[in-house]
Amino acid sequence: MTTAHEPAPVARIVIDNAHIATVDPGDTEFTSGHVVVAGNRIEAVGAGPAPEVPGAVRRIDASGHLLTPGLVNTHHHFYQWLTRGFAQQAILFDWLVELYPTWARIDDELCHAAAQGSAAALLTSGCTTAADHAYVFPRGAGDILGAEIAAVAELGLRFHPTRGSMDRSRKDGGLPPDNAVETTDEALAATEAAIDRWHDPSFGSMLRIAAAPCSPFSVSTELMRESAVLARRKGVRLHTHGSETLEEERYCRELFKMGPTDYFESVGWLGDDVWIAHSVHMGDSDIAKFAATGTGVATCPSSNARLAAGVARVPDLLRAGVRVGLGVDGSASNEAGELATELRNLLLLNRVAWGADALTARQALRVATLGGAQVLGRDREIGSIEPGKLADLALWRMDGLRHAGIADKVAALVLGAAAPLTLLLVNGVPVVENDRLTRADEDTIARDVATAAATLARRAGLT
Ligand code: ZN
Repeated sequence: MTTAHEPAPVARIVIDNAHIATVDPGDTEFTSGHVVVAGNRIEAVGAGPAPEVPGAVRRIDASGHLLTPGLVNTHHHFYQWLTRGFAQQAILFDWLVELYPTWARIDDELCHAAAQGSAAALLTSGCTTAADHAYVFPRGAGDILGAEIAAVAELGLRFHPTRGSMDRSRKDGGLPPDNAVETTDEALAATEAAIDRWHDPSFGSMLRIAAAPCSPFSVSTELMRESAVLARRKGVRLHTHGSETLEEERYCRELFKMGPTDYFESVGWLGDDVWIAHSVHMGDSDIAKFAATGTGVATCPSSNARLAAGVARVPDLLRAGVRVGLGVDGSASNEAGELATELRNLLLLNRVAWGADALTARQALRVATLGGAQVLGRDREIGSIEPGKLADLALWRMDGLRHAGIADKVAALVLGAAAPLTLLLVNGVPVVENDRLTRADEDTIARDVATAAATLARRAGLT
């Protein structure tokens, strides 16, 4: 007999008959297997049909489907969703100089729309956890990070926003205009306040903050050093851009008399609580330092191609034991903002640069799932399909026009056309069904984005 004090039975979702790529330590795959989700956790995974379980509220026949861990995005700039299609033929520094004045006009309302657009593109492309590197906080622009966090929570994405910062403007030899930066003290105080307000370190957390000064050419050495001290005092991770372009390398050598990796080392920025976006121009000694210190990399192949930055040495990074995750980067240098198609670009660009055996389809999937989880410090919780882990799962349809007949379903996902997404679970909750968001209206988001982009362009004097 049920009493008022007894907990309610755990709701279960049973997925049967799927090809399952678990991305567990042995890379186990089941050609026809099952997963049982109980609440927000994976309860069981195995070959054949699922056992009878109590309290199953939903059973899914996943014949013709591939089930993977949800994809993890390790680098993004959500606010850039409103400045897509600008500076179409520029390298990084010229692109930044063209875009900074527009970015200096953002506010919290515009960032809410941008975050919904960015999060919608990620979710509908199989992403269940995303980092975001917010680093533009104009004076009087309102609660930008709060607006982003609210926007993402509405859609149901597991979120790792960073409180970024810039304090080195033109007058101090940096790249951004003076009205786009904060003072060192303002940036540090706001970063600490963001951690105190939002950071949730618990198992299964839907929201974790990191400290993220933007880049060597927009941040003072003092802010780099003090951010590392702050992050370690608070127990949060550190994130920034590094070794993205040859121009950045030259800038570092002129100003700091050393390359980006040695600079990071000199300010306390190598460690297993640090992940760096791009790491394209890395020598063997740079890679060895990342491996020895556990420093992670967010590789962003489409953005690096869009800005003609180069191709990161992903095979060498992986061989050296560096933790590598995948990132779409900001939407102003990757207009698609989709993570699943980034798998293909990761593999193709590394093949072009480093040869036919550079990466396998399964290595690409591992980078985009468990690799990202490692980079964000979440690999005990997400990134593979194993009992006890959180139920962040992507169910891809592989028997439709574009994929039917490709026997290897992992190859079909990585090498083939963008795959339809039948179901995406984040924390056990269906947030995408049949390619549509379940918790927000996509047409409304598109309308809000168009309005916000037009407002920003008007404010910046572009229209
Ligand atoms: Zn970036």
